[in-house]
Amino acid sequence: MAPAATPSVLTTEAPAPALARSDPPAAGPRRASVVTSGEAAAQWQQLLEEVRRCTLCRLHATRTQGVLGVGPRRADWLVIGEAPGAEEDRRGEPFVGAAGQLLDAMLRAIGLDRHTNVYIANVLKSRPPNNRDPRPEEVEACLPYLVRQIALLQPKIMLAVGRIAAQNLLGTDAPLGRLRGRVHHFGERQTPLVVTYHPAYLLRTPGDKRKAWEDLKFARSVYQQLTQGAADGNRS
Ligand code: SF4
Repeated sequence: MAPAATPSVLTTEAPAPALARSDPPAAGPRRASVVTSGEAAAQWQQLLEEVRRCTLCRLHATRTQGVLGVGPRRADWLVIGEAPGAEEDRRGEPFVGAAGQLLDAMLRAIGLDRHTNVYIANVLKSRPPNNRDPRPEEVEACLPYLVRQIALLQPKIMLAVGRIAAQNLLGTDAPLGRLRGRVHHFGERQTPLVVTYHPAYLLRTPGDKRKAWEDLKFARSVYQQLTQGAADGNRS
């Protein structure tokens, strides 16, 4: 993937320093062909309908609609945020509005597009009232939907945006600053996971955009190593 030009939204600060990261990524597991495309389509539809009907936590009473996610149903990249906000709840799509536009710009900076090669979802599928933080029992009730999404998507890499998403996916209360800059792994497939800031936070705190750009370049390098390793394996 050719390096994309740094978007102006991420270049309000000085140029990002060279990366000096530890914890190199492990080779990703091979994709298992466990379902046909027809079966996968049926499972996606089932998931969509279950989320639409879901009453497993109290958020169903205050949401407009469940928001499953957006993007191609097989994607190498999976971006995961916290929960739908007011606009997402209204439109039924994650990361729309100003934060969504910034996320799109961040993704474009590393050659990604929500409509072609990245799937975007949230930990919670329903909006918490007044955008409050998700409660543990809500995350516990909702996380199986995301696990099923991941099983269908089989992403090569996950990008957790924001403290809430990162902490809930990784089962930790460590601050975001301690979770950035290294490769974590998620779920049965041990999918590599990189952490960065939530675009809504970056809109409020533009001084941290430079660090977000470091994270994105790091995630891109992890992905490139993963795919290069797979290509080398296929050639040998
Ligand atoms: S947040 Fe998740 S578990 Fe709770 S009602 Fe919505 S879809 Fe169901």
